[in-house]
Amino acid sequence: MTMINKPLNLKKGVQTAAAQKLLRNKGPMFGAAFEFAAIGMAIISIDGCWMEVNHCLCSITGYSRQELLNSKVQTIIFPEDREKQLACMEQLVAGEISSSQIEHRIKLKLGCVIWVECGMSIIKDEGGKPLYYVWQFRDISHGSDMERKLAESEQRYKSLIKHNPAGIITCDLHGFIKNINPAMERILGFMEVEMIGHPLYRFSAKKQKDEEAAHSLIFLESDNYTLSMKHKNGEIIELGLKNVPIIVNDMMEGVYLIARDITQHNKDRESLRVAQQDLHDTVRRQQGMTMKFRQMRGKFIHTLCDGELLYRLGYKPSHIIGNGLYEIWPFYMAANMEKYYRRAWKGEENVIYEATFRGITYLTSLRPILEQGKVIEVIGSCVDITERKHMETELRETKELLESFINNTTDAICVLDIRARVISVNAAYEHVFGWKQDELKDRKLPIYPDFLEEQRKELYDKLKAGKQISGLDTVRKRKDGELVHVSVTKTPIKNEKGDIIGFAGITRDITERKRTEELLRKSDKLSVAGQLAAGLAHEIRNPLTSLRGFLQLLQSDMKGKQHYFDIMLSELDRINFIVSEFLVIAKPEAIHYKKSSLQAILHTVMALLETQAVLCDAELLLEFESDIPTIVCSEMHLKQLFINLVKNAIEAIPKDGRILITVTMHGPDQVRIRTQDNGCGIPIERVKQLGEPFYTTKEKGTGLGLMMCFKIVEAHKGTMNIQSKMGEGTTIDVFLPMQYHSFPEIEPSMT
Ligand code: ADP
Ligand code: MG
Repeated sequence: MTMINKPLNLKKGVQTAAAQKLLRNKGPMFGAAFEFAAIGMAIISIDGCWMEVNHCLCSITGYSRQELLNSKVQTIIFPEDREKQLACMEQLVAGEISSSQIEHRIKLKLGCVIWVECGMSIIKDEGGKPLYYVWQFRDISHGSDMERKLAESEQRYKSLIKHNPAGIITCDLHGFIKNINPAMERILGFMEVEMIGHPLYRFSAKKQKDEEAAHSLIFLESDNYTLSMKHKNGEIIELGLKNVPIIVNDMMEGVYLIARDITQHNKDRESLRVAQQDLHDTVRRQQGMTMKFRQMRGKFIHTLCDGELLYRLGYKPSHIIGNGLYEIWPFYMAANMEKYYRRAWKGEENVIYEATFRGITYLTSLRPILEQGKVIEVIGSCVDITERKHMETELRETKELLESFINNTTDAICVLDIRARVISVNAAYEHVFGWKQDELKDRKLPIYPDFLEEQRKELYDKLKAGKQISGLDTVRKRKDGELVHVSVTKTPIKNEKGDIIGFAGITRDITERKRTEELLRKSDKLSVAGQLAAGLAHEIRNPLTSLRGFLQLLQSDMKGKQHYFDIMLSELDRINFIVSEFLVIAKPEAIHYKKSSLQAILHTVMALLETQAVLCDAELLLEFESDIPTIVCSEMHLKQLFINLVKNAIEAIPKDGRILITVTMHGPDQVRIRTQDNGCGIPIERVKQLGEPFYTTKEKGTGLGLMMCFKIVEAHKGTMNIQSKMGEGTTIDVFLPMQYHSFPEIEPSMT
């Protein structure tokens, strides 16, 4: 007994020897029973070493006796079961239990693991001091098939629960938690031990009046349902649950609650919903309109349509969605749209069309949505272009107006680029200057006379400096070389940045104005001269009357000097005639018009002046174009006119002169009488002055001859044109109309 008093202090060899001694002491029978027992038997020291093993144990474990003796028991026990084993051993030592029976796994020498049933008891001395353990092993892995299958299915079921990714809570019928799996621990943050034995409702997020009742109702749920539970950290967890009843022997024992954390799922769903709503609102609130359609049974059916434009058109999405074109729009519109829909449905990109409805014009752009190369839907975006259209129309109208203005104005307009090359000219420009736009394009304007080169440079310098030239009175050259009086306005054209990009010019042909101005000036002077002449004539005639009267009186008294009286009377009559003639000129109402032959008039004039011409060494020639019809005129005045002209011509010829009068038709209703001489000519700057009263270059001249000529021609509604070249001669054209439509007005000033 003393040997094993302090078993923990014994060496291994000593322990084994002690055990053998122990068995021997019981007699050979006892030893044989131990050795040949049908179950594995062992004597284990209190510190857990093999002290003696029997044959059966060796054959179960695969180890030889030698290999086992004095080694630790724990080495062959499956690691996970060691604790369990130790706990039992401690309980035995402490006297809490007298024997125990547990199942655990052992690792065989071959490496595999088997289940054994291990019975353990403890042997103590009289003093109650533990001496050693007696173990019996029974290999239960080779139990009956049934048992094994059961054990396996138990394992499978446990594994299913343990490794299930879904959280599983096992509840009894009263709603008390029996266990939860690791997945559920992860979901709720509680350990299994914290939940076991508690009613399920304690972990619910919602407090209800009759929670227990509410929760027991849960067990009746057979469909999927959701439950809000509280995480250990206070967060609310949404669980999607499915109840599976636990039925054992046809009796329901409880419920498995199989849970899925749908918090994220719900959150996702909510954000999806918000995103969808947001998208929907965006589509609705957009200024324009977005729509989608697809072809179903040969018809284009709208699947989406919204946006403010839709409401402005007087529709709502419900009017459009689910409907085809012909159910929405008037026939003509639907038919038109269908063409474009069809094109887009065929896969054509960028199909664009315009439509106008209820005064609103909008532009739609269609885009097919493809899936695996096939159009599955077409999306259309529409924008309201009413305003733009209005503006476009206005702009076009303004442009047309401007163009029509430019092309119909009588002012010549030209637009030049920065290098002063022509971009365009208007119709009036072509008319005034005789150049066609095509001839001028990209050219410098050829209308500046050489002597105005200086002016041209100055002008462009000013323009380039950003200044404007307005109403400049000057002359320009026509294509045929003739000068035209013009009033020029030129402006630089600037872009938005204010840079000069070209020039615009408006040129007004003021030849006519100049002429009228000239006429006005002349007629002003004429009327003054006329009035003067009229007054003078009166003043002269009155004394002439008395002179004549007294002369006649004297004539009867003074006989014998008859001859002188006759001369005096005839001279007085001549003065009277001249003065009366003067009056006639000053008072055109005295002119009597009648049909006369121009031929006859001119022949008289020739006859009258022939002598004078011969005296002046000049040849006088008269040429008629055949068939000059009679004209309505005052014969006497025309004679006066031509006498004055021919006389001036004779007077202008120093010697060897030649005066040619030609009469030709000018157009269908005018006749031209041209007096051409090869006299001294008139300086160009003087030509303007011709016709002004008292303008003369002759010592004994009156300067009234041409004035009368102008007056007479004017009274006949004709025109007179003087051309002259110094040293070469002068040509004066008188144009007279053949017929009068109305006789000239009486000039009011000429009374
Ligand atoms: P007058 O003959 O009395 O000088 P006119 O009115 O007839 O007055 O003529 C005015 C001026 O016009 C003349 O003095 C002359 O200088 C010029 N003149 C008119 N006709 C001719 C002509 N054929 N050739 C040159 N000078 C002319
Ligand atoms: Mg004269």
